[in-house]
Amino acid sequence: RGTPPVPPDARPRLTVLSGPSGVGKSTVVAHLRKEHPEVWLSVSATTRRPRPGERDGVQYFFVTDDEFDKLVANGELLEWAEFAGHRYGTPRGAVLRRLEAGDPVLLEIDLQGARLVRESMPDARLVFLAPPSWDELVRRLTGRGTESAEVIERRLQAARVELAAESEFDVTLVNTSVEHVARELLALVDVV
Ligand code: 5GP
Repeated sequence: RGTPPVPPDARPRLTVLSGPSGVGKSTVVAHLRKEHPEVWLSVSATTRRPRPGERDGVQYFFVTDDEFDKLVANGELLEWAEFAGHRYGTPRGAVLRRLEAGDPVLLEIDLQGARLVRESMPDARLVFLAPPSWDELVRRLTGRGTESAEVIERRLQAARVELAAESEFDVTLVNTSVEHVARELLALVDVV
C-alpha cells in the first residue's frame, strides 16, 4: 500500500495578488486572513518607514538600505522591486519552505514583482485586483490621509501604468466589495 501518486496539478500553489497601488490589495488580504488564518501570507522586507499602526515583522520587515542591499547580495529575495522611491522584496527561504511543506502561499506584491515571480516560478497563479473604476482608485489613493501630495501623485502615475498590465495576468478580480473579492481569492488559493 503506497501513497497514491500526486497529480502534478495537486502541488501546492503560489498565488500572487497584484494590482495598482491603492486598489485595496492589503485590505482584501487582511479580510481573507481574518476569516482564514491558515492561508499563509509572505511578509515582505521594505526600506520604507512604518505607517502609524504598522509593526515590524507583521505588515513588513522594516529594514535599512544597507540591510536591503545585503538581502539582495545574498540572494535571499525571491523577487524585489522599487516602488515609489522605496524597495520591497519577498524573502525566498520562508516561501520555499512553506511550499515544500505543502501549504498554499499567498504573495501580495506590486506588478514588477509579479512579473519576476512569473519568470522564476512559472506555476505561480497571478491574480490582478482591479478597481471598480479609475475615479474610485483616485478616491482611495487620495483618501488614505497618511501620504503627502507628492507621494500620492507618484502612486497615481504608477497606477495608470499598472492598470494596463491586466492582460498579463491569469485571473482578474474586481474589487467591488472586500467580502466578495476575499471569497473569490480564497477559492483561487487552493485551501482545502
Ligand atoms: P505599501 O507601501 O503601500 O505598503 O506598498 C506599496 C506597493 O508595494 C504595493 O503595491 C505592495 O503590493 C507592494 N509590495 C509589498 N511588498 C512587496 C514585495 O515584497 N515585492 C514587491 N515587488 N512589491 C511589494
